[in-house]
Amino acid sequence: MKRYSIKNLSSEFGDDAACLAFIFSILYSYDCNCGGSFQKVSGRRTYQCSRCRAQVAPAAHTCFHGSRTPLSSWFYVIWLFYGHKGRVHASEIRDQLGITYKCAWRMRQALEDTGIFKKKGVFQNDFKDLLREIIQIKPK
Ligand SMILES: [Zn+2]
Repeated sequence: MKRYSIKNLSSEFGDDAACLAFIFSILYSYDCNCGGSFQKVSGRRTYQCSRCRAQVAPAAHTCFHGSRTPLSSWFYVIWLFYGHKGRVHASEIRDQLGITYKCAWRMRQALEDTGIFKKKGVFQNDFKDLLREIIQIKPK
């Protein structure tokens, strides 16, 4: 199996909008019940129906909830976890992203709390399958 490289990651999930679109596609349908279709609201982590104006915030019920850290940074940290088989220190996240230790620790904790890295065989899966699984886990 071909390894999912940092190059793959940055071309596919290089910015917040790309990550949000991925999250949206996993959790929601672009077609609204009213017959309209959902589009990204510019400058916000929200999608809105073109017709009934219903809004969804795709990251709201995921482990990324309430975080102001770019989603691309979250995806990068998940990629680190994947490469290190679930063992990543907060200090490493801090150094790699240039964020505070506190923020790094919180990210690490949120990902640990999903319980995904304790699951058997999870690191044999494709990286994007891991992403899909994490996105579908609702935080406690
Ligand atoms: Zn609608």
